[in-house]
Amino acid sequence: MNTISLLIDGKLVKTQMGKTILEAAKDAGIKIPTLCSFEHLKPYGSCRLCIVEIEGKKGFFTSCTTMVQDGMVIYTQSEEINKIRRNIVELYLSEHNFDCTTCANNLRCELQEAASLVGIRQVRYDVKTQIKNLKDYTNPYFEFDSSKCILCARCVRACEEIQGNFALTILARGYESYISPGLSDFINSECVSCGACVKACPTGALIEKNIVNLGSGNTFAKTTCGFCGVGCHVIVESKANTIVNIVGDNNGPNQGHLCVKGRFAWEFVNSNDRIKNALIREKITDEFKEVSIEEALDFTAKKFLQIKEKYSKYALAGLASSRCTNEEVYLVQKLVRCAFENNNIDNCARVCHMPTGFALGNAFGTGAGTADIESLKKADCIMIVGSNTTHAHPVVGSLIKQLAILGKKIIVIDPRTIDLAKQPHIQSLHLQLKPGTNVALLNSIAHVIVKEKLYDKDFIENRCDLESFKLWLDFILNDENSPSNVSKIAKVEKELIEKAAIEFATSKKTTIVYGLGVTEHAYGSSGVFCLTNLAMLCGFVGKEGCGVSPLRGQNNVQGASDMGAFPNVFTFYRHISDENTRKAFEGMWQKKLDTNVGLTIPQMFRSAINGRLKGMYIVGEDVFQTDPNTYHIQKALESLEFLVVQELFLSPTTNFAHVVLPGSSFLEKNGTFTNWERRISKVNKVIQPLSGMDEYKIITKLSSKLGYAMDYNSEEEIFNEISALSPQLGTLTYEKLEKYGSLLWPVDLYTS
Ligand code: SF4
Ligand code: SF4
Ligand code: SF4
Repeated sequence: MNTISLLIDGKLVKTQMGKTILEAAKDAGIKIPTLCSFEHLKPYGSCRLCIVEIEGKKGFFTSCTTMVQDGMVIYTQSEEINKIRRNIVELYLSEHNFDCTTCANNLRCELQEAASLVGIRQVRYDVKTQIKNLKDYTNPYFEFDSSKCILCARCVRACEEIQGNFALTILARGYESYISPGLSDFINSECVSCGACVKACPTGALIEKNIVNLGSGNTFAKTTCGFCGVGCHVIVESKANTIVNIVGDNNGPNQGHLCVKGRFAWEFVNSNDRIKNALIREKITDEFKEVSIEEALDFTAKKFLQIKEKYSKYALAGLASSRCTNEEVYLVQKLVRCAFENNNIDNCARVCHMPTGFALGNAFGTGAGTADIESLKKADCIMIVGSNTTHAHPVVGSLIKQLAILGKKIIVIDPRTIDLAKQPHIQSLHLQLKPGTNVALLNSIAHVIVKEKLYDKDFIENRCDLESFKLWLDFILNDENSPSNVSKIAKVEKELIEKAAIEFATSKKTTIVYGLGVTEHAYGSSGVFCLTNLAMLCGFVGKEGCGVSPLRGQNNVQGASDMGAFPNVFTFYRHISDENTRKAFEGMWQKKLDTNVGLTIPQMFRSAINGRLKGMYIVGEDVFQTDPNTYHIQKALESLEFLVVQELFLSPTTNFAHVVLPGSSFLEKNGTFTNWERRISKVNKVIQPLSGMDEYKIITKLSSKLGYAMDYNSEEEIFNEISALSPQLGTLTYEKLEKYGSLLWPVDLYTS
């Protein structure tokens, strides 16, 4: 970093080259009024409110577009500057309905703040002749009122530069100009309701419907989105245990942006359909009876213990949830190992990203991706395989769109014409393969790279297993992998396969991201191995801008897997047969642990049908709807003698339950989530759990009633135990997470 010094209003400011005067002043706590500038957008320089004077230079300079230089002496306040600023604000106000007290944006408004900063006492130009009165209420989450619009174009630029969507435009000219979602209204436009324009709008022209209806909140809390594996950081505004608004936090992987889910889809939290009390029944044909959580837990423990007594300890199993926090997942697997006394524990990664864990674990040593979002930004070429990124992981999808617009190469391998393959502003290579032929296609790409001698010989010689490489070479050079042969199998033109291979290999830095289109196949692991082979072949691993990363589906799939919710491993993929690891867990848990590998999800259902598995504890997973072969799952669930489901809502799976325990949403709990990058982020309780009991307490109480006491006073105590048992977390604590915002594992042991 090139640090320089300058004087702003007499204050010595140290900053970096490449910053604007406005940014340097803001960092130093000096407020310069502005209306068209927004921290996530490129400098625009249209409102001219942010003008400053620079010693030795004539005239005024817009601080949002003028770069700092070493030794600059800057004045942000002078009688002349303030006179010009007042005039500008007066002109804005002359065409604005400043009915502030009844405006939903009152006290949130940057125009109001600018008027206050420059000291407006009167508006001399009382015209208001040009005020437009266009209203658009068609979007379900926000509304537009042109009478409050100052035409700063922040919304238009946010849509383009942040969301990469181009849904908004300025129509007409001069005084007639107005903001419009294309040529129609919001609901019929290209808008995907990400809310970036609403966040960027300095006035009440674009505003969330919830703010209009509920007013502002009085409490602001930072936490992590609970929808997908991107793990966006959010700021939640609430009052009286009710959420009012959610916006993106600048410090997360999302850098302030969110998608429609994280931004607006949180109304389920306060839904009347939420399960708030426990439900029990003897038979699944009976009606549920509402009881206290304590009574339900007593009933549950009695039934589970009866099953253990009557059949065997192996007749019980548990499923942890990838929607829950790391701490809760850890507790569920601990309950299964210590209270059920077996290893029959699994999580939904079994049916989505198990091939990721297996193939990345074998290729790179651990079952997790190798690139983070910062590295993705530095890639020259991004290969997207089997992932409809803009739909499933929208914030990463928007980022890739922006990178593509900036000219990065994009290779899409997907049978579907996804957004990233068809956007008019993006030049991408789309290999639209026939479903089920990805292994053949990826091998063919490798075939071309080897034939054309485009591989990284040094990387392979120094970093790969040469014996395996020679064997693989024999296979890959076989004619069956040639583009002319594979084009017939995959239905992708031979020339396109060759072009993609050359683009991939000749880029300086290539990153591969992939989704369930790779893993959810019978041969999912082979698909992931093909990707790791491609990355190693070209030396695209272990370097900035390179890597192979799975875009995880649910918010904490990575974490649930890291926490050892698998039948064969403890936390961070250490096998239960490893003496030292097992002894460490036995020591910490004060419990002799079973050494038999437990049942996977498919094995659990087969065991239920053949009568060996009798009781299950399913936390936050609707297996009936989500697992393959519904008839088989139905038969398995019906075969169980006793099923306990911990959930937010009644679901098709709870139809088979004897007990339903109330779960809590991500906004009602403390803990941590781990995203696709291996980023551990803090989850903070925003509202109290609707059930009246923390979800982790329900798990610990159940364990204690089953005869294995768990006694934690906070989620932090649980996390400290996980850290103590997991070298990958180093000496990580909640305090360090708060300090750094979030950290990727393996956490640097020297992170103080
Ligand atoms: S909500 Fe998002 S997509 Fe829709 S107009 Fe605003 S920025 Fe564009
Ligand atoms: S709607 Fe808001 S952000 Fe867009 S131009 Fe008007 S004032 Fe600016
Ligand atoms: S991209 Fe994923 S984590 Fe981010 S706001 Fe959307 S759903 Fe939440």
